[in-house]
Amino acid sequence: MTGKNSHPDQDARMDQLHRYKLETVHGVKQDVVFNSYPEWITVQENLSTDDYVKKIVGWHHDRNLIDGSTDKDQFAKLIQEAGELSDNICKGEDVSDDIGDMIVVLLNIAERNKLSLADCLSKAWDDIKDRKGRMVDGIFIKETDL
Ligand SMILES: [Mg+2]
Repeated sequence: MTGKNSHPDQDARMDQLHRYKLETVHGVKQDVVFNSYPEWITVQENLSTDDYVKKIVGWHHDRNLIDGSTDKDQFAKLIQEAGELSDNICKGEDVSDDIGDMIVVLLNIAERNKLSLADCLSKAWDDIKDRKGRMVDGIFIKETDL
């Protein structure tokens, strides 16, 4: 509750909550109204990889990043994200965000080309599953390239 008997900080927090919007998997936005400040609320999303892919692809569509962008634009973005990954690898910092960002951009390119993540991974797996080769200085060199 807010009002003349409530703490100003609580009023400010309630004001933030009144403007809270949720977005569904399909990008539908809806207002969420709280009647009291949810002190103990925890939002835990146990999403599968498929759930994340659907959300991310929907996110790209919502922001016109599929029809309104190009593979070339997104490739430039991908290399930007690769640079961030390189930076964090070199600094010994966490790389989870960078890997995620690169996958987000790759999903954009895949969606524009009517490919699913499974399509792409399946092709890649078929290519590598029986590959033979040798480790040279930390890099796997294909038998045919040795
Ligand atoms: Mg990034």
